[in-house]
Amino acid sequence: MWRATVLTIFPEMFPGPLGMSLAGKALAAGLWALEAQDIRGHTTDKHRTVDDTPAGGGPGMVMKADVLARAIDALPGDGRPRLLMSPRGTPLTQARVATLAKGHGVVVLCGRFEGVDERLIAGRNLEEVSVGDYVLSGGEIAALVLCDACVRLIPGVMGKEASGTEESFSDGLLEYPQYTRPVTFEGVPVPEVLTGGDHAKVAAWRRAEAERLTRARRPDLWARYLANKDRRD
Ligand code: SAH
Repeated sequence: MWRATVLTIFPEMFPGPLGMSLAGKALAAGLWALEAQDIRGHTTDKHRTVDDTPAGGGPGMVMKADVLARAIDALPGDGRPRLLMSPRGTPLTQARVATLAKGHGVVVLCGRFEGVDERLIAGRNLEEVSVGDYVLSGGEIAALVLCDACVRLIPGVMGKEASGTEESFSDGLLEYPQYTRPVTFEGVPVPEVLTGGDHAKVAAWRRAEAERLTRARRPDLWARYLANKDRRD
């Protein structure tokens, strides 16, 4: 079973939104497991201190290597990747999510304050993962993002497995536009090709729209898509 172990000073933030909807039903059904562990359980002082002032001075606090190391070392060494949510990390992609979802699960460390003592990151060989080029106040919401993206790819979690293979990023393109009833909304009809019943034409229209949107909105993805296409052709 796919297992997420989250190390955090706010365990009550979990499962949070992951306890609802399809992810929540799958959690209740035992298709995956989530364990949020309180880092403060690994402190040794009366005040349960997890942070201290930064060496060299400056604002804020830094999470202590010794406490975090105890929290990590208390976990069984079961080969799951150990991730640190961090704005300095490798940006999370659908490809990385798909690989993580195929494995046994993840151990996720959530930073707070100014971040984590560098010796812990190196000493425990943590993979730094970012959810985007902006700064959150803590790693918990980033961990929820990562787990949500993985869990929906676990077989049996989503209604239709196919919806995982045809969506944005799965083939390097953004998804084509979607429509549903009513056939006319505020005078705008659903594109005719989608109501004509010709599956080949629908597929061709969707591909062309996906390419148009990707080229217009994400030049970075478009360039990579073209390079991969050249290699395939
Ligand atoms: N001083 C740090 C930011 C700390 S934000 C810096 O400038 O890089 C506090 C914590 O929030 C981080 O340790 C990390 O765990 C989490 N966090 C913030 N932004 C994030 C992002 N974009 N992706 C993943 N985690 C993030």
